[in-house]
Amino acid sequence: MHIITRQEGALNKVAKYFKDQRYWQGEWFNKQKDIDRYNSLVVLGTTPNKADVDAIMANTTWTEFLCDDCHKDAEYLIAFRDGKTVVKVCKRCVVQALRLINKEENKK
Ligand SMILES: [Zn+2]
Repeated sequence: MHIITRQEGALNKVAKYFKDQRYWQGEWFNKQKDIDRYNSLVVLGTTPNKADVDAIMANTTWTEFLCDDCHKDAEYLIAFRDGKTVVKVCKRCVVQALRLINKEENKK
């Protein structure tokens, strides 16, 4: 397992994710608006900050970093790997998992 930060897991990839979703077969879906947004994201560099990305995108969904279990936004997620599958879990869920394990162990 390892820690992934919002910076690594969301912010640094936002320009790529945006292009992956909005650029198809040599065309932008919303030509001028998408090109403007993409160029603005690229100008932020390889480590953009959340406030700048949120301002360009006019919402916070592109910078959300969601736990795979509770689906809440988090600054850090712990990645568990099972072969090629990676599950990313927040601290709150890890703490809850420990409580469940401890409760089970205390039954003995
Ligand atoms: Zn969670």
